[in-house]
Amino acid sequence: MTKTTRVSRISGFHKLTPAERLEAVAAFAGLEDSHRQQLAAPGNLDADLADHMIENMVTTIAIPVGVAANLKIDGVDVLAPMATEESSVIAAVSNSARQCYEAGGFTTSMSGMEMIAQIQLLDLPDPERTRLTILERREEIAEICNDCDPMLVRLGGGFRSVEARVLDTDGGRMVVTHLIVDTRDAMGANAVNTMAERLAPRLAEWTGGRPLLRILSNLADRRLARARAVWPVDAIGGAGVRDAMIAAFHFADADPYRAATHNKGIMNGVSAVVLATGNDTRAVEAGAHAYAARDGRYRSLSRWEVTAEGHLSGMIEMPMAVGLVGGATKLHPTARALIAVAGCDTAEGLARLIAAVGLAQNFGAMKALATDGIQKGHMALHASNVAIDAGAVGDEIAMVAARLVEARSVNVNEARSVLAELRSR
Ligand code: NAD
Repeated sequence: MTKTTRVSRISGFHKLTPAERLEAVAAFAGLEDSHRQQLAAPGNLDADLADHMIENMVTTIAIPVGVAANLKIDGVDVLAPMATEESSVIAAVSNSARQCYEAGGFTTSMSGMEMIAQIQLLDLPDPERTRLTILERREEIAEICNDCDPMLVRLGGGFRSVEARVLDTDGGRMVVTHLIVDTRDAMGANAVNTMAERLAPRLAEWTGGRPLLRILSNLADRRLARARAVWPVDAIGGAGVRDAMIAAFHFADADPYRAATHNKGIMNGVSAVVLATGNDTRAVEAGAHAYAARDGRYRSLSRWEVTAEGHLSGMIEMPMAVGLVGGATKLHPTARALIAVAGCDTAEGLARLIAAVGLAQNFGAMKALATDGIQKGHMALHASNVAIDAGAVGDEIAMVAARLVEARSVNVNEARSVLAELRSR
């Protein structure tokens, strides 16, 4: 990094308008004009709205949104909006869904719409007794929680139960209270955090303990979305492909090095729909990986087996804390429009759709890996990006990409020389 006298301590930065902030950032970074103009260009999110959504807003970044086709979920045909910067992701979901469409597509379910808020209590002389004291106050706890959110209660949600756990930690024993709250069509973080904060002083009063953290758990294991599907053995290329995919699954389930990549593939689909619908990608990702490690070993989020008839059966089960109200889902007009594309009128419906997309994505990646290898399909799409990177425009992009794939050499130097040759003709 070059030595600089630039100062990042910009007093009153948050009080500036987005345009003023951009000027300050451009001056700080010494941006050339083309970069400054790029950041100033309007997208499909109004700058005023964006400025209200986050702090120190200077610009927006556009990510391509595509739609995965061929999905049949619980007997209904649907399109899944997916926001992703990675090529091959949407094509893989569409192809995988096509291969099980005739056999009925995906069957989904949901364990419930409950979130967990945690309250940490310290300095307890008798943690086991404290645990019971808390459980004995169930009715008062229910009232305090429900009073925080009458709207949620009117909609059929609200407090469901309380649990108390004694935790042995390196810092001594502590008691952790879990509030189980049905948050209906909200992801629910704000809703349950408010309840935890409101209840904490009362827990202190009842137990003599010192409350510290009061926050939801992203391990939303009372909000599990599930999807399953059967791919007819003839639709996927025969028993050899099926058995190779089963072997790929066993590898992922036994080895965390492989499972991390296997689950990353699932999240390619999951996070793309979560992002397109304005939901919190980090919340869903944290929940997914924590759930994958629930046995004490990091494992596959999906399971695959051969049916009695010899077909390939896949299933996925993972926490899916997504909502249709709250956060950016309601604020971001593009997210709202994409939720309409998905046709979801409940958060449960959206969560189930996302689980189906995750399973389809997993099928696509496992099939590619267990047969041709991932690069064949990936490179065809990746080659277009490399061609653009090398300066190809319009029709040149497809021509350069095709030549790169043919030469099995997809890199920007090769693309530049192919482009130069094309232009010299
Ligand atoms: P929110 O508080 O904006 O909206 C939820 C509220 O909307 C409910 O409490 C209820 O009063 C009302 N509501 C209206 N119609 C409803 C319906 N049909 N179903 C349910 N409630 C309805 O949002 P939220 O969902 O509580 O919080 C989500 C936001 O919290 C996200 O932006 C997330 O990024 C953020 N967040 C996440 C974490 C985390 O994951 N660790 C922590 C803090 C905040």
